[in-house]
Amino acid sequence: MTKTERLTPREGPDDETLYVARDEAESGSKAPFFAAFVDPERERRWGYFCGNCQTFTHAMDSMGRLRCDDCENFKRPDEWDAAHE
Ligand SMILES: [Zn+2]
Repeated sequence: MTKTERLTPREGPDDETLYVARDEAESGSKAPFFAAFVDPERERRWGYFCGNCQTFTHAMDSMGRLRCDDCENFKRPDEWDAAHE
């Protein structure tokens, strides 16, 4: 299994192709946030893909909280740690 096999190409917000890593997810309040990359080799990180409303986002505030621009899905770092101990 190569690391490109779990990537799903999708059209990004600027009409470029972005790659959604189905095996790199962070748990959100409504649905997972998947890691999104510019290239299929995962060398250039773009941001996240919201699994709830199926849109790309790279909104992360100064507290490290991740929040989707288009729905109420969000993630807090402390919740992530506690849920995966
Ligand atoms: Zn969303």
